This record gives sequence, structure tokens and C-alpha cells, in this order.
Amino acid sequence: MSFKGVIEARCPRGCESFETEIWSFIHGRRSPELRETVQAGELNLLLCPGCGAAFFAEAAYVYFEPDDGIIAFVFPESHRAEDQRWRGKMRDDFAALKKVMGEKMPIDIEPEVFFGPDGLAELLEARDRLAEEVEVMAAVAGGLGLALYRVPPVFSRRQGVPALLPHTAGAQALTRAGLIAGLERLLAANDRLTTYRGFLDSLRASPKAGLPPGRF
Ligand SMILES: [Zn+2]
Repeated sequence: MSFKGVIEARCPRGCESFETEIWSFIHGRRSPELRETVQAGELNLLLCPGCGAAFFAEAAYVYFEPDDGIIAFVFPESHRAEDQRWRGKMRDDFAALKKVMGEKMPIDIEPEVFFGPDGLAELLEARDRLAEEVEVMAAVAGGLGLALYRVPPVFSRRQGVPALLPHTAGAQALTRAGLIAGLERLLAANDRLTTYRGFLDSLRASPKAGLPPGRF
């Protein structure tokens, strides 16, 4: 469900312009090879047929990974100077996109905005590291007989809460006490799960911080 558009590209060295296809919408889960290209910071990198120079297309694209709560608009680096103008355009484009996508698009959040390829590349890198930690956590929690609660993806992403949380309430509803007890047992068994350590610290520091919606 990723798709392309056609643009008139102009080489920064002033060669004759040329028509080319670029990616305009990436579904990161369904197009893993494109996710890798985004992560490498090389999406929509063009080669000038005239002089062979490599340069980025002067066009925005949307990156969508609903399982991980990510919706991002990536504008060309050159657009950074007019940040507010492009954020306004993003809101208009996003409203149009939501109409096209219908229910596949979570409608209650505003996309993140990046200028140039680096911000989103770093975000995907960080999400991969976190996914590895969540996997280790799930294995440790399974060995300890802890229950797991899956946090809604958008909430997890925006609040910095790990996507899967261990707790001691079993089949019973997740409680704050059960969550803290689960995290303590987890970290006693494996002290290298630094994201979970940080989450436990924030839970203790602030009674309302970072708790999944509708559960406490
Ligand atoms: Zn050129």
C-alpha cells in the first residue's frame, strides 16, 4: 500500500530538468524494504541523468507505520526555513489523506513533521532498538510467569511508554500496583532493560505519568 507520484526534478547543478517517479506514501510495515531505505536516509535520492550528481527530490512524503503509532510528514531539508508554512500545508494534506484512507488512518493524532531524512531515520533506529528490548522483556517476563499488557501503539509512541508491559495481575485487569510489582520482578531478574527501568522510575515519581488510557 505504498505508492509513488511523478515530479519534475531539477539537478542542483542546473542541468536540464527531468521527470521521475518518487515515493509519496510509505506503509512501513507492508513495505519493509522501503522502511530500510528510509532508515538509511536514502528515500527519494535521485541521480541526475545529465551529470550523475545524487540529490534528494524536492518533494514531501508521508511515512505510516500504524502498528508502531508512527505517522510522519517528511519535507525536504530546504523547507526547514519556512517551518510554519509547511506545517500548515501538512495539516491540509493530512485532512485530504484521511478522506482517502478512511478508517485505516487513526484520525485523532497530528502527524510528526521532519525536515530532511535524518530525523525519521533516527526515529526508526530508536524504535528498532526498543523493539529488541521489548522482545527480551517478553522472554524474561514469560519465564517469571508475569502477564503482559499491550499498550495502544499511538499512546506508546507519543507518551514514551514501552509497547508491552509486564504485570502481576494475571487475567485480572491491569492495575498500577500490579504494573509496579511486575516491573520490579522483571528488573530484579534482568537489570539491563533500561527502558523499563526508566518507565518504573517515572511511574514512582509521578502517580499519573505515562499510564495507559482507561486502565487506572
Ligand atoms: Zn546534473
